[in-house]
Amino acid sequence: MSETLFQNYDANNGKKTVIVIGGGLSGLSCGKYLTDLGYSVTVVERANVLGGKVSAWRDKDGDWIETGLHVFFGAYPNAMNLFKELDIEDRLQWKKHTMCFAMQDYPGEFTEFWFPEKVPAPFNMAAAILTNDKMLSWGEKVRTGLPLLPMLIGGQKYIDAQDELSVEAWMKKNKMPQRVSDELFTAMGKALDFIDSDKLSMTVILTAMNRFINETDGSKTAFLDGNQPDRLCKPMKEYIEGKNERGTKGEVLVATPLREIMVDDTSGEIVGVRVSGGSDGRNNSTSGSDSVGGEEEEKEAASSSKILTADHYVSAMSVDALKLHLPAAWKTMPFFKQLDELSGVPVINVHLWFDRKLRPYNGLVFSRSKLLSVYADMSECCKEYANKDKTMLELVFAPCDAQSGADVNWIKKSDGEIVAATMLELERLFPDEIKDAVLLKSAVVKTPRSVYRAIPGRNKFRPSQSTPIRNFTLAGDFTFQKYLGSMEGAILSGKLASEVVDDRLNSSGKPTFTIPPKEVHESVVVGN
Ligand SMILES: Cc1cc2nc3c(=O)[nH]c(=O)nc-3n(C[C@H](O)[C@H](O)[C@H](O)COP(=O)(O)OP(=O)(O)OC[C@H]3O[C@@H](n4cnc5c(N)ncnc54)[C@H](O)[C@@H]3O)c2cc1C
Repeated sequence: MSETLFQNYDANNGKKTVIVIGGGLSGLSCGKYLTDLGYSVTVVERANVLGGKVSAWRDKDGDWIETGLHVFFGAYPNAMNLFKELDIEDRLQWKKHTMCFAMQDYPGEFTEFWFPEKVPAPFNMAAAILTNDKMLSWGEKVRTGLPLLPMLIGGQKYIDAQDELSVEAWMKKNKMPQRVSDELFTAMGKALDFIDSDKLSMTVILTAMNRFINETDGSKTAFLDGNQPDRLCKPMKEYIEGKNERGTKGEVLVATPLREIMVDDTSGEIVGVRVSGGSDGRNNSTSGSDSVGGEEEEKEAASSSKILTADHYVSAMSVDALKLHLPAAWKTMPFFKQLDELSGVPVINVHLWFDRKLRPYNGLVFSRSKLLSVYADMSECCKEYANKDKTMLELVFAPCDAQSGADVNWIKKSDGEIVAATMLELERLFPDEIKDAVLLKSAVVKTPRSVYRAIPGRNKFRPSQSTPIRNFTLAGDFTFQKYLGSMEGAILSGKLASEVVDDRLNSSGKPTFTIPPKEVHESVVVGN
């Protein structure tokens, strides 16, 4: 094992340096905003492709396999700003402003909620709900609307206070008809956090509804025009690696897993991070990989290990990966102990290629089926995957374990079993078309720990970006920010983390920070 002790990334320019661990959207966003602030940034990513939960790679035929079907919402201001700043806004393919649901009781039928153009929020949503009579009766609409009024009046404070209640418990408390959950909230819960609504925190539903009600284009959806690593992660990498106005130049290294966060015994501060491997992505480019973060690549990478140092360190790993790498000296600190209350929820992304068009639809569909969440015909929705004769469906398979509401532990099932179960669900969605359609091929991507599991009572344990360790900051969609576990949440967390880093590096020597860590909930402190 070769070691390069205390390699100094800033030897050339004398500017302050930051190492960001994790090349998902939060890490790349943090790197981008630190670059804007004039820091020299090194992003180290474990896998040989960037993106984390938005990563993708090609199969042997050259078709893209994605970790997840992803849509952007109009209510994603930080993501929209990022696209603008990177000058890639034209890569977002906006769809007509509707929400499309499969009808549960009528196989093959779908219904849409139309948001009229040029009508401002909240009237456009009111019109969308009032003009759709397929899902809820007038009585049910009234009984749904009234309990939502406190959300409109109380805003985020009211929403946050509902985190202790599951969707079912909140509905019972507010005497909402069960059909609202069956028709609406279950579909939303499965789409937003891959969990059935009886297990999900009501805050998740209310957070989304609040944005959709208050912003005219909040619920409008956009698909990226191609694979995420090339169309979104690559411009971020190039931005970090380009020479910026302040003369700093960063690096984004893939296949460079963090092995150890090394801390000083007395202060608890980081003295360096031990990483393996290291590739600037030129050979292992941000696309074209067959596997993501597999053991093989880690074995290869382990052949060389080095210690990197910087003025500041950011973890942009998922909460589960971060917990694995916490130094022993930090584990008993309440700030880090609260992470025990958070963990990722499983989800599966299924790709199905058919020899013909099923029923073409250019947008996201809520499947309303037991095993599936949302799906999209990517041959219609995404420019790079367009095909006028054949269908490629991407379907989010959720819930996947008992804790999320599934009868079967799907994450442990074989790809064949998952595809067979998905095909049965398609018989309900496309009863006429599926009989003759030939399934040409399929691909299944399992993510055993994806976004944090938003069961009731988790919000209070979400850590701030600011930590009690002077030279260590957190990013990641699970950290405290108002957009839950999402691309918007990840991008915002990276931006917030860059502000904390700037605060810390400009306040060196001062005993307190302008951006202090969020208080740890008393149950964690007492438990300690
Ligand atoms: C199936 C699916 C569908 C989704 N659909 C949507 C959607 O439609 N809209 C939406 O807004 N959001 C969606 N999401 C959520 C969204 O993808 C995530 O919220 C977001 O991408 C998380 O970004 P992140 O940077 O916080 O975490 P991650 O993407 O998990 O990034 C963390 C990175 O850290 C790396 N890492 C881990 N360990 C190490 C180590 N030891 N050393 C170095 N690096 C390490 C990982 O490889 C990873 O790249 C979906 C997610 C999934 C799984």
